[in-house]
Amino acid sequence: MPDPLAELRYELALANRILANEDVLDAFGHVSVRHPKDPNRYLLSCSRAPELVAPGDIMEYTLDSQLVTKSEIPLYSERVIHGEIFKARPDVMAVVHHHAPPFMPFVITGTDYVPVFHLGATGGAKPPFWDQRHEFGDTNLLVVKPEEGASLARAMGKHWMVLMNRHGVTLGGTSIRDVVFRAIFSCRNAEFLLRAKALGEIKPLSPGEVEKAAVISTKTTGQARAWELWTVRLDKAGGTPPRGVKAKSKPKAKPGKAKKKR
Ligand code: MN
Repeated sequence: MPDPLAELRYELALANRILANEDVLDAFGHVSVRHPKDPNRYLLSCSRAPELVAPGDIMEYTLDSQLVTKSEIPLYSERVIHGEIFKARPDVMAVVHHHAPPFMPFVITGTDYVPVFHLGATGGAKPPFWDQRHEFGDTNLLVVKPEEGASLARAMGKHWMVLMNRHGVTLGGTSIRDVVFRAIFSCRNAEFLLRAKALGEIKPLSPGEVEKAAVISTKTTGQARAWELWTVRLDKAGGTPPRGVKAKSKPKAKPGKAKKKR
């Protein structure tokens, strides 16, 4: 029977690799999407570096971040970030969690993110901070307990992005493409903001400008144009995910059939 989610698994694998290719994700960080037919489930890779994620790695989870089909395969320890945000925000259809370098100075110092160019509005006017220490004391900073994920989702509130002190960033979006767009352009904005601060006084977008500029990212023409570019860049880098669901590990070659060396 063909997998009804095959196209979505492919798109999510592609999103993982695009975000890695654009330097948002590295060995860590992840991207998920809500199940299109069952809002009480979501799709997320098993524990694998985003650059390597293939459609066959994409697993189905309940909103309590448990696998729908039991498996012994290692999973992301921070998957509760996704489940708890999907629970708290019915309007969020996709989630990205990252530790991208342009944001680290902000989350380390607790400096506000403000949009300084039109596409920076995708991150919101002044996204809130969440400090795990306030509620949970000394932790290893990973968000692994459901109550930690729920606390993060509360801090996010109605925003599309939440900054996590000494850790990273979590974003929501209305689709995979929307959340990828927000993740990439908010990183660009953070980069510009940091550099501009070194040059002089910052004059961020006004609240009215943020509101108007934020609409840009919701237009499918812009999203499609950016997605095509990122897809082609990934392809040029040789990173396009394989089509179809393949076995996770290839069977080892049978011994005894090695070619003779000349
Ligand atoms: Mn993390």
